[in-house]
Amino acid sequence: MSISHHLDDATLMALASGTLDEAFATVALAHVDWCDQCRAALQKAEAIGGAALEQLAPEPVDNDALAATLARLDDADDDAGPVAAAEDTVVDLSAPGPLAQLLGRPLAEVKWKKLPGGIATCELPTSAGVKSRLQLLKIGPGRSIPEHGHRGNELTLILAGSYTDAFGRFGRGDIADVDATVAHRPVINPGEDCICLVASEAPMKFHSLIPKLLQPLMRI
Ligand SMILES: [Zn+2]
Repeated sequence: MSISHHLDDATLMALASGTLDEAFATVALAHVDWCDQCRAALQKAEAIGGAALEQLAPEPVDNDALAATLARLDDADDDAGPVAAAEDTVVDLSAPGPLAQLLGRPLAEVKWKKLPGGIATCELPTSAGVKSRLQLLKIGPGRSIPEHGHRGNELTLILAGSYTDAFGRFGRGDIADVDATVAHRPVINPGEDCICLVASEAPMKFHSLIPKLLQPLMRI
């Protein structure tokens, strides 16, 4: 898999320190499961965090959050699925370990809720009290998501297909790590549905009236 868009440093540090919101951590860990570069960066961040904690606290510290993160990574490794067929012959719908665990079923068997505009969603469960949303989005080739900004952070992992926006082309394995200042208009590239795993802090902020009117229906 050739990955060209990665987690930003702030997200990696939050993940390493166990402070990243659960929905965002799930997306980030799913990317880390596929991405050697971010896995190495995460391990480095965890080592730096551990060293800093040792300096700050002579007493043994509570490393539960870090242990939980590492355990999830271990689990993810253990659960790696069978090697997929060559990408040019079959659409590879294998999911990264943390997502496969959460779904409990193959990506091809997800129950989609269809929305207007060629978009389908599947809400994924998070723990009680988690405010961010975690969902799968499936958007047809040639479709676009209207230009929108964000009221909060949004972390998107592309699982299948691809889209292009002002920041470039995002394909399988790429992550879009955007904050409230970013506005973009992703267009799905031809050929196959684009399936993404998305964690979002707040609903998207659309710039034109029709998407605004549709938003309550679309729940995006
Ligand atoms: Zn990466």
